[in-house]
Amino acid sequence: MGLITFLGTGTSHGIPMIGCDCPVCVSSNPYNKRFRSSVLVETDSVRIVIDTPPEFRLQVLRAGIRSIDAVFITHSHADHIMGFDDLRLLSRSVEGGLPCYASSSTAADLRRAFQYVIRGASKGATVPNVRIIDMNGPITVCGETVIPIPVRHGTEEILGFRIGKMAYITDCSYIPESSYPLLDDLDVLVLNALRFRSHDNHFTVSQALDEVRRIRPNAAYFTHIAHEVDHDTVSADLPDNVHLAYDGLQVAFAEEGTR
Ligand SMILES: [Zn+2]
Ligand SMILES: [Zn+2]
Ligand SMILES: [Zn+2]
Repeated sequence: MGLITFLGTGTSHGIPMIGCDCPVCVSSNPYNKRFRSSVLVETDSVRIVIDTPPEFRLQVLRAGIRSIDAVFITHSHADHIMGFDDLRLLSRSVEGGLPCYASSSTAADLRRAFQYVIRGASKGATVPNVRIIDMNGPITVCGETVIPIPVRHGTEEILGFRIGKMAYITDCSYIPESSYPLLDDLDVLVLNALRFRSHDNHFTVSQALDEVRRIRPNAAYFTHIAHEVDHDTVSADLPDNVHLAYDGLQVAFAEEGTR
């Protein structure tokens, strides 16, 4: 079995939003408190993180993560990469550098945003001991295959990732026809569902439900959630096999059938 741990499930603002007095932002329900979106994925052979959001340090501490084998980055928006520097302690003892995989365009953005990492540490300073690697197809880390899933995020092409029978897709507004075969026979699908009103760059809850009906995973978990979505009321209306993810949630998934 594999295990996915949701380190964060919020949209780019995080929930609560700065300066907002709406019922969700002022709610005392812990399920309505959302760090920016990220997950830890563990199998028997590998432990990886997908995205390093601004709260990455707090997420790592909260989940008790002490080591990882690789990092995968979906795209270079701030809410997905701005905790990258906090890879310092997780990467320092990794021989040859902790591998960080991203599409070529995201990798180029990372190299630009974190130029000082590429240049290397100056005297007395520490920088993440990472290797930023362009991902142009499936790669194998510690015996586990990770398959990139190209999706659209507004006008940009970004990546989701499949490991075993689990796929993680965030910040998606459109799945190209050619990516559906990569989503066959899933045990767990994680998919973004921002809110109810339409948005150019993200699926709404109803669009995400349409995708779940087409992809037909055993179970689906929605993430990258905005403050319009109250966890308890919206959860009550979802189909039995569809759930709102929340920070700290852990979900097991089947590994057999990895291609
Ligand atoms: Zn985002
Ligand atoms: Zn609010
Ligand atoms: Zn984004």
